[in-house]
Amino acid sequence: MLTVFGSVAIDTIRTPNKVLKGVLGGAATFASISASYFVKPGLIAVAGSDFPKKYHRILSRYLDLQGLTINEGKTFHYDGKYDETLSTRTTLKTELNVLRNFKPKVPEVYKKSEFVYLANNDPDQNSAIIKEFDKVKFSMCDTIEFWIANKKSSVIKMIKAVDAVVINDEEAKLLTKEHNLIKCAKKIMNWGVKYVVIKKGEHGSLLFYDDVIFPSVAFSLEDIVDPTGAGDSFAGAMIGYLASKKTVNLSTIKKAIIYGNILGSFSVEQYGLAGLLNIKKSDISKRIKQYEKMVRF
Ligand code: AMP
Repeated sequence: MLTVFGSVAIDTIRTPNKVLKGVLGGAATFASISASYFVKPGLIAVAGSDFPKKYHRILSRYLDLQGLTINEGKTFHYDGKYDETLSTRTTLKTELNVLRNFKPKVPEVYKKSEFVYLANNDPDQNSAIIKEFDKVKFSMCDTIEFWIANKKSSVIKMIKAVDAVVINDEEAKLLTKEHNLIKCAKKIMNWGVKYVVIKKGEHGSLLFYDDVIFPSVAFSLEDIVDPTGAGDSFAGAMIGYLASKKTVNLSTIKKAIIYGNILGSFSVEQYGLAGLLNIKKSDISKRIKQYEKMVRF
């Protein structure tokens, strides 16, 4: 089984052509829905009493929600604005609301999960929750500038507690104070994590393991409208694929990363979650074939 823990959010996303207000977002939302194309994930998260029923219904279509808690108060709210080129996002607001001091509980049936993804979330909560799983075969985490800026030592502690970290290039540089991505990855691996995946947005990603570097390109797209959640969709597909294969080695991880690139590409083609919700398994396999054709030489 795969369990995903992290933020469920109500987002405000400002793109050059459209402003989305009050839309369903959150790192765990994107990651778990992306993973649901491979296995049925369990979600552990908290939302507030303002969380719309229609968002609850969307989540319930893709996920097991025994781990979703609704607490008194407002749902975590993120507000971000993209520049004209959609390549940089400025965070305008991060309102933790019910996420602050949340004490997550792992439902009994989730405790045997062999795959656990700690999506972008408070690193202290992430480090605490991973200890509650008895049979973990493969765990992975992500983080974002907000946590590196506010709780850097907790971020490092969380990284030490997992098998793999996925992180974007800017955040890897910020975290390690290195400019070169190989140096960044080596430093992160020295903290005790086996696999490091550095995401480079539209430029794909780099996987580091031991002395192996596996670069992969993103699926080339002409029309991108909203990059929000691409990284989370990437990570969700990666761990979802691994959970469906039940084996983790360099070869399955490489394939998982390609699935990550593919699901990431679907998520940026439409606003908010729509790109992830409006696909079929056959769309994924079709795009995988196109990708194979693109990179073969
Ligand atoms: P990404 O575009 O992959 O960075 O993911 C964006 C999603 O992460 C949004 O839907 C946000 O709700 C969520 N998010 C943004 N900041 C944080 C944070 N500090 N902690 C947890 N989740 C966050």
